[in-house]
Amino acid sequence: MDYKDLADLIFPNAKDISYYEEKYPERNLEEGAVVTRFAPSPTGFVHVGGLMQCVINRQLTKQTNGVFLLRIEDTDQKREIENGVSQIVNAIKDFGIEFDEGMINETEEKGSYGPYKQSKRADIYQAYAKYLIEQGRAYPCFATPEELEEMRKKQEAAKIRTGYYGVWATYRNLSVEEAAEKIKAGKPYIIRFKSMGSEEKKIRHHDVIKGNIDFPENDQDIVIIKADGLPTYHFAHAVDDHLMRVTHVIRSDEWVSSIPLHLELFKALGFKTPKYCHYAPILKEEDGKKRKISKRKDPEAAVSYYHEEGIPAKSVCEYLMNIGNSNFEGWRRANPDLPMSEFKFEINKMSVSGAIFDIVKLLDVSKNVISKYTKEQMYNEVLEWANRYDEELASLLSNKEYSLKIFGIERGNSKPRKDIAKWSDVKDAIIYMYDDKFLSQNADFEYAKINNLEEIKKILSLYMEKYFDINDDKQTWFDKMKDLADKLGYAREVKEYKQNQEAYPGHVGDISTVLRVSLTGRQNTPDLYEIMQVLGTESIQKRVNRILEK
Ligand code: GLU
Repeated sequence: MDYKDLADLIFPNAKDISYYEEKYPERNLEEGAVVTRFAPSPTGFVHVGGLMQCVINRQLTKQTNGVFLLRIEDTDQKREIENGVSQIVNAIKDFGIEFDEGMINETEEKGSYGPYKQSKRADIYQAYAKYLIEQGRAYPCFATPEELEEMRKKQEAAKIRTGYYGVWATYRNLSVEEAAEKIKAGKPYIIRFKSMGSEEKKIRHHDVIKGNIDFPENDQDIVIIKADGLPTYHFAHAVDDHLMRVTHVIRSDEWVSSIPLHLELFKALGFKTPKYCHYAPILKEEDGKKRKISKRKDPEAAVSYYHEEGIPAKSVCEYLMNIGNSNFEGWRRANPDLPMSEFKFEINKMSVSGAIFDIVKLLDVSKNVISKYTKEQMYNEVLEWANRYDEELASLLSNKEYSLKIFGIERGNSKPRKDIAKWSDVKDAIIYMYDDKFLSQNADFEYAKINNLEEIKKILSLYMEKYFDINDDKQTWFDKMKDLADKLGYAREVKEYKQNQEAYPGHVGDISTVLRVSLTGRQNTPDLYEIMQVLGTESIQKRVNRILEK
């Protein structure tokens, strides 16, 4: 009896690996094309670090005419939730990212390198496990959980490395006959890799992001096929990334320490190793200390948070791009109007230690992104968000024509408004423009410098009587504000006032503030002339009369 007989005994129906090698040929892509993947478990949850990976992967594969695929890693079936795949696909899609290949929902997929769900690939893994057994590089291990536990205790007591390796690998040297006998006797087993490495020997590996790293060789005989017939992460990674012809394994750096094992697996399987790119976690600064953004502690760890807050997908993607390549910020400043896809992302320029996530910065990026929206884009996105998360806002927006006028205020010009960072800011920023809402609230406004009611009334009534005309252009409107100031003994110009403060009770700006607060209830708003144009005569009159009647 030889290895081949043992392999046949264990996997009698497995195909020869040449079948899969032919079925999934090298991809016919341009030189330098990046093929990469996002490979989550179907937990439904997408971490902001995962989204960053997708933003980067999408950018790299687009700019090299490569392929970005979604593989679902469901070999640990305990972590699976209902609709977990669809939830992931939709969460990523919310950020404008679509995959070229892979799972579309729980059961459907696209692309010719599938199945893209690991639980559907059992026969493939078994074929490669069989191949390793035939080569003498994998073997059945009959250790019971109790035996393994006992071994671990001994190792701990002796203060040596734990694990299944070297002299501890009890079943590694079983003869083919002994192994076959146990199998025939119905003893339960799993399949382990037979490592040829040694702790004493060092290897040097080049990671695209982290640079050269020195490791001891792997010597662990890790499990490759579990008792349920499914592979472990390590084995599936090797088989899948090889057969899906992945060129770049871009993954979080929690996997760095597995590199020696993965290199040995790829070599034993006769696969070319992909380029490894291990990115650092996104960090958060708290009480002067840095730590990983945590799913448990930080709401912003879940990408659903951004969606709920109404931070536009584009803002989040731009910010994550900036976390990925810090020179993106400078590029954006130099190219304010180019699409993000024009930026040349360089994976080897990613931070080794991890970038800090700064929500204030994200909101700043977002203000810029939103300032470039047209009023129609603005209306559509805000409405979509409001329909899901804010009924009151959605009902305000049901008057489309009027709402579009509001969104047009200080938009589409050379200095667009930048006061909105997220859709959840919008209601507060526009609510006073709607008479229903504004006039139904009391008018106890906080005025600024001029806050004497009689003076306020005097200003407003003179303005409405002698100066107000909705058809004035902006310059005329402005000149009239100055005339009004003049008439009431205020300085026409701020400068004049500053030079001779005793001579005036205030200046034209104080006068226009009275009008602004009366019309909007606020001291700070976008351009008052534009606001008045949108409100129209009738609404302006109603708003002023309320104050005059006080
Ligand atoms: N399923 C693994 C994870 O979610 C994938 C890691 C990888 O990208 O290889 O961590």
